[in-house]
Amino acid sequence: MSVDVPVKCSCGSVTGVARNLSATTTNHVMCSCRGCQCYAHFLGRADDMLDADGGSNIFQLDPKNFEITSGMEHVVCMQVTPDGPLRWYAGCCKIPLGNSFPKGGIPFLGVLPICIGYKGTSDEVVKLIGPVRGHINQQKPIGVGEKLRNTGMLVRFAFKLLAWRIRGGKSWRPFFDEKTLRPIRKPLTISDEERAALEAKAGF
Ligand SMILES: [Zn+2]
Ligand SMILES: [Zn+2]
Repeated sequence: MSVDVPVKCSCGSVTGVARNLSATTTNHVMCSCRGCQCYAHFLGRADDMLDADGGSNIFQLDPKNFEITSGMEHVVCMQVTPDGPLRWYAGCCKIPLGNSFPKGGIPFLGVLPICIGYKGTSDEVVKLIGPVRGHINQQKPIGVGEKLRNTGMLVRFAFKLLAWRIRGGKSWRPFFDEKTLRPIRKPLTISDEERAALEAKAGF
């Protein structure tokens, strides 16, 4: 069974809906890359977004299922590195929404559960989108079993991406221009010094 869940920033200016959520329509992953950790510190939300090992819970979905219904004027994006993903957030109160590729077209959005009111792998979030299927960019050595599980997750994700692309065509909603497939906002970039300061906060 899939459900529609309201999207809301903490001040209430940005609202929306994440549709058709279930364990089969999404891919629940954990990412511990530098970029995700810097981003959490950039938003001043490390406590809300990162677990004890610096991992962020993300659920990947077809962005056609993610709609902003009010406050689009508050939605902005940033890049931790110049060619990194676009990280979309509510600029009004710094609530993360989702991460996308730098250009539209590929039906992919990695949503941070905080925008639907849940933190990490809470029971509620697992009930909604299923358990974490793999962990990417871990900063500590992992065993063979975990490596296999992570590879399985990536294969599952590749099939999902392909299915979303075949079924829905090129993707642009809600963060790209339909014609040019360029992002609707110019991404905010940070200087090398700012990035170094965020990395230091994240303990790199
Ligand atoms: Zn807000
Ligand atoms: Zn990451």
